[in-house]
Amino acid sequence: MKRVFLETYGCQMNVADSELMAGVLERGGIELVDSAEAADAVLLNTCAIREHAEQRVLGRLGDFARIKRTTNPRLVVGVAGCMAQHLRAKLLDHARVLDLVVGPDGYRDLPELLRRAAGEPVTQVRLDRDETYGDLEPRRGGGVRAWVTVQRGCDKFCTYCVVPYTRGRERSLPLDDLVRQMRHAVAQGYRELVLLGQTVNSWRDGEHDFADLLRAADAVEGVARVRFTSPHPSDFSDRVIAAMAECERVMPQVHLPLQSASNRVLEAMSRTYTIEAYDALVRRLRAAIPGLALSTDLIAGFPGETDAEFGETLAYLRQVRWDSAFLFKYSARPDTKAFRIPETLTEDEKTARLERLIDAQHRISGEIHDGWIGREAEVLIEGRGRKEERQLFGKSAEFKTVILPDDGSAPGDLRRVRIVGATPITLFGEPVDAPRPGPLVSIAG
Ligand code: SAM
Ligand code: SF4
Repeated sequence: MKRVFLETYGCQMNVADSELMAGVLERGGIELVDSAEAADAVLLNTCAIREHAEQRVLGRLGDFARIKRTTNPRLVVGVAGCMAQHLRAKLLDHARVLDLVVGPDGYRDLPELLRRAAGEPVTQVRLDRDETYGDLEPRRGGGVRAWVTVQRGCDKFCTYCVVPYTRGRERSLPLDDLVRQMRHAVAQGYRELVLLGQTVNSWRDGEHDFADLLRAADAVEGVARVRFTSPHPSDFSDRVIAAMAECERVMPQVHLPLQSASNRVLEAMSRTYTIEAYDALVRRLRAAIPGLALSTDLIAGFPGETDAEFGETLAYLRQVRWDSAFLFKYSARPDTKAFRIPETLTEDEKTARLERLIDAQHRISGEIHDGWIGREAEVLIEGRGRKEERQLFGKSAEFKTVILPDDGSAPGDLRRVRIVGATPITLFGEPVDAPRPGPLVSIAG
């Protein structure tokens, strides 16, 4: 077992988990390669949040079955992550293709599991209330942004969501481990730290709370920017708002999932807050942090959602004016409580509701972006445009993608630009400052 091809599906947490796995594999003497054809084993890091995500992975297993049949019968095929945990029994039906099924708490022993799986099928899906991987250094990917997992699992048990079942109970990594990891990432050249957790603002390690963690991240020498995702509205304390307002490097941006603006639906989802409480929190955040950019997650078509209840969500979307939103159609997930609530809408009806949310949000994002024209923004340069060679792209403090002419700035540089054009997705800027020397250390990757 010398070469592994690792493919990642799903959320940022999975990207961070793949970096953790990459670190474990490298320390175990295993090289990461970039195709299944060049590998002794393939490992899919999977997502179970919606049915569609699972179907993509099952389709991909068909590709590997073909490689096994035709060119490399000894190829070890593994499924890791949320789907491994969620579908362990069903996945074993694919036993002719699959050699390894490993859940989110089994990554510490990955080299050993892969070696064993070359001989006989292996399943490791035990959830571990204590595993945080806090002592393990991830092998981070390229770019200017380091994803730092500060918390694993989730205790909220929203009735539609499979995460507490696939990732287990909430666990926070200790502050000392996190400060060490963050310093290391910045010393490697990463300019931005993004703290990750399913309810990241409920992070606590016995002595410290999330406000302390934000202040510790802000104090890491050499860091340019700090962000976090996703906070839960019920865990947003005034201490955290004060830390955001006071810490210069904590960016004025919050992704604050709402899911629905109907109190009856929120209750049926077990979200633990009302729309009035969410709105009061938005007001507190906007008052404390001038220029704050806000985004959200919404689910269209939760079982039993009436036309009027959907209308409440659409009306609130227009009222609160998020900068952007991730909009989802409800997907029934086995094991969750909502799975037992009969669905009341057809797929087409759910799609129609989703499309109304998308249209309304698109218009608002466009209006907000048009309002940026003529204003200045600070952009952290990430790289060259994919389509247009002579363009650079990066993110503003508000986490908006900004495209600017290539004037030789390097990834990791901070540039001031004047916004001269906008679409609902992107801003276009012209530099207003002279290029500065890049960071003192080279960019990782
Ligand atoms: N922990 C985060 C939170 O609660 O804000 C989000 C975790 S989840 C990976 C991201 C989003 O997926 C959720 O905020 C929700 O909008 C959506 N989601 C989760 N379960 C879903 C389901 N069964 N159907 C549709 N969307 C779902
Ligand atoms: Fe899922 Fe709710 Fe936990 Fe988010 S807070 S991961 S939606 S159970």
